[in-house]
Amino acid sequence: MRKRELDFFRKLLTRRLEELLMEAERAKYQVKETDQPSSDPMELASNEFDRDFLLRLRDRERKLMIKIKAALERIEDGTFGTCEECGDKISEKRLHARPMATLCIECKHEQEASEKRIEYEESRERPRLWAHM
Ligand SMILES: [Zn+2]
Repeated sequence: MRKRELDFFRKLLTRRLEELLMEAERAKYQVKETDQPSSDPMELASNEFDRDFLLRLRDRERKLMIKIKAALERIEDGTFGTCEECGDKISEKRLHARPMATLCIECKHEQEASEKRIEYEESRERPRLWAHM
């Protein structure tokens, strides 16, 4: 991938990561705000809901952050835009839609085709990944 393209994706991913970190900070602050015990049962219920919602949100954000960081690492080590499965180039159109993608569209479709197949691929994948460490 050309340097100009890599710079584009690096900026895009870095900005998304910064947004997520800001959202996470805000969510943390809001959880603290609702920590005050309330005597009103309705308000209490709504606070509990808010807290659950925020914790779920933070979990979802954390997973997304991990994916973004992994994509940034792939930009640095030069494997960004290369399919992890077949080693082909992931189309730039696909990367624009999903910059965190690690599989080309063919491999992604194949992966989605069968749950059983995914389990098989993963059990085959793990020892191979460890061998590189
Ligand atoms: Zn592929």
